[in-house]
Amino acid sequence: MTAKLPQARPRGIQIFLLGFLVCVAGLLGAAPTVNAQITVKDYLQPLLDEYAAMDAPGPQELELLAYRYEFVYAKELGDLFYDRLTHDRKWGLREAFADYAASFPEIIPTLAAKRAEVLEIIPATEARFVELFGLQPEFPVYFFATLAPTDGKVTHFGGRRGFALNFNKIRTYSATGTRILLGHEFFHLFQAEYIEEPEGPELPPEPTLGSLMAEGWATYASEKIFPGFEAWQYVSPFAGDDQQFRAFQEYKGEMLGYLLANLDNTDRRVWARLFSGNPEDAAPWPPRGGYYLGYLLAKQMSADRSWRDVLLMPYRGFREIAETELRSLAK
Ligand SMILES: [Zn+2]
Repeated sequence: MTAKLPQARPRGIQIFLLGFLVCVAGLLGAAPTVNAQITVKDYLQPLLDEYAAMDAPGPQELELLAYRYEFVYAKELGDLFYDRLTHDRKWGLREAFADYAASFPEIIPTLAAKRAEVLEIIPATEARFVELFGLQPEFPVYFFATLAPTDGKVTHFGGRRGFALNFNKIRTYSATGTRILLGHEFFHLFQAEYIEEPEGPELPPEPTLGSLMAEGWATYASEKIFPGFEAWQYVSPFAGDDQQFRAFQEYKGEMLGYLLANLDNTDRRVWARLFSGNPEDAAPWPPRGGYYLGYLLAKQMSADRSWRDVLLMPYRGFREIAETELRSLAK
């Protein structure tokens, strides 16, 4: 991509208009860099280039760069990651941005290194999908870096389902964790595009049951895509050790009982207890216990079926099978 980040202007409206034009140009002109199937739309490299072109920048210049990048240059991606965040969580965004921008000298090289790593993982992941499922995944992947704390988000730019990766989050993931994360996330898109109705929603309407299948299956799929690692690495690819996984094992009975008692409960708090990333929603369990339970469920179902059939099964009919299998897991 050749578009440069818009330069700072004294008036906000000018920044906004210029940013809007550059944004539109950027979205139209982003060049595929991996291959024709999983296309990379690289919104990260311009940040790296822009930083490299700065001559001993002060804190204010760095802060402006951070703002221009996230809220002007790549506004659509910024909006996607900050959606509801500012009023959901009472955090000091300005202070956080100042700290974030001040750490650019230390962060930027790690972003560049992770970018190179991911560019190698993508074709390997793609090849594994073809090998395992006989289907070619096709979707855009947006490279982006943001202070927002999510590692990736599904996008619908131009009516096309895609995936945006937050390099500022995944720069701290191990090489193994990064591979597993990509296998996991790409399976979500693959499942939505090829297994469920192509025009249908990402997740089935029942939040807890839908997430149990979506997250459990993606976790289990990541193990099939990149085999050979420990179970905890698939369940907690962001973690550096098995501490969270061991806590899941400890609370397994309690979490299973709760899930079975609330299988058809559509209250968001039930969903949050098992699938939200916020530790307060799940305490005393670790957050996202539903990922672990869904992974166990997929594994259990593969004991007397082929794991390929399990991974490729449609959501229709899932509830009945899931309940039977969860009950035997709880024994
Ligand atoms: Zn997931």
